[in-house]
Amino acid sequence: SEISVSPNPALSTQEVVDLTRRLNYGTWRYQRDWNPLHIADAEGCYIIDGNGKRYLDLSAQLMCVNLGHKNPVVVESIAEQARRLPYIAPGHTTEVRAQLSRMLLDVMPEGLTKFFFATSGTEANEAAFKIARLSTGKSKIISRYRSYHGATMASMGATGDPRRWPAEPSVKGQGFLFAPEVNCYKCPIKHTYPQCGIACADYLEHMIENESDVAAVIVEPVVGTNGVLVPPAEYLPKLLEICRRHNVLLIADEVMSGWGRTGSWFAVDNWGVKPDILVTAKGITSAYVPLGVCATTAKVAAHFDDHLFAHGHTYEAHPITLYPAIATIQEMQRLDLVNRARSMGEYLGPKLRALKDRHPSIGEVRGLGLFWAVELVKDHVSKAPLNTRQEKMDGKPLVVDRVAADMMKRGVSVVAWISHFVIAPPLIVEKADLDF
Ligand code: PLP
Repeated sequence: SEISVSPNPALSTQEVVDLTRRLNYGTWRYQRDWNPLHIADAEGCYIIDGNGKRYLDLSAQLMCVNLGHKNPVVVESIAEQARRLPYIAPGHTTEVRAQLSRMLLDVMPEGLTKFFFATSGTEANEAAFKIARLSTGKSKIISRYRSYHGATMASMGATGDPRRWPAEPSVKGQGFLFAPEVNCYKCPIKHTYPQCGIACADYLEHMIENESDVAAVIVEPVVGTNGVLVPPAEYLPKLLEICRRHNVLLIADEVMSGWGRTGSWFAVDNWGVKPDILVTAKGITSAYVPLGVCATTAKVAAHFDDHLFAHGHTYEAHPITLYPAIATIQEMQRLDLVNRARSMGEYLGPKLRALKDRHPSIGEVRGLGLFWAVELVKDHVSKAPLNTRQEKMDGKPLVVDRVAADMMKRGVSVVAWISHFVIAPPLIVEKADLDF
């Protein structure tokens, strides 16, 4: 007989919102202002609210629903794995784990051959930091300003964007140092590309030499939430060469930039860079189920052949997270989404760039593949952000939030962050959606 789960009585849209506000937290918000939209359904590139109104999902939620909503193959894979084997402790194995690992060998940058499965990007980064420190016997990790690596203590400690520090001064992990971000639009060390000769990478080398005890450098190859900062072509190859010369591991945090987002399987592939550790999550399952991966080379992993890796989670390598990843990779291949992201990006990029000439507050438009940011400034000369982090901290209404709210009224959902928008639709997006 049909079995169905039906909590009773069903809730109206207003009851859903009221209960959520009363019983849950809205993160990174003043709770008094939290008024979540009740989303009842979603399909393809659209989310649908409790009243049936449709919104184009221009940022694929949190830059993660790469296949679009409710891809039937991935949806079915979740049910299928649940029927077959919903859980097994990570000390055992099962075919799904072996199959996914074998598939990762094909899509990940060459040399990454050993995988740790976690349940978020944050958690996969935590594993990366432990692996880097344990395998090198060194303790410091260099990150960069304007980065985001997660919300728990170590991953937040590695986060160079102070978005969480002022609000959570006592919760930051230790042992992380920060180098200048790569931002040719507003170079933090006041250089101009290409005359600079990639001075920001030299700065990082200077840090490695003077700090000593540096286990690893962690970078988002294309910085995501903090404004889709695409480095100049020479930057990552130069950084890798510096790391190799100083025997420091390079960790690529591809939680957001991976899985076709930039028009390559992984952002590092755009520059032929093969990191020692690659961390990813989000698009690996199109975010339908929570899966993070920390991938390392055989050389890094060899340390643990005769040293204990005393790490792991109850939900590590959880079968219901692994099978949908297999389905996602197969769907990406069937729909040729990596190439599609590249060609759709070529369609979208000029349209977005044209906005710059149409509004004095649009300072820069930048991106790669289907990963773009529109940055708002006070004026084109000072390039000062239209709103500041402090204004956000103080609860002041921000222009980006007002624009995003107006876009919602017109049926477009977009991620807005202090002074920029992140434009990163599902990779299945059609030209007509982009025109809209
Ligand atoms: N690293 C990067 C580059 C991210 O963009 C994010 C999330 O946005 C994280 C790590 C944290 O991942 P999660 O939110 O899955 O814990």
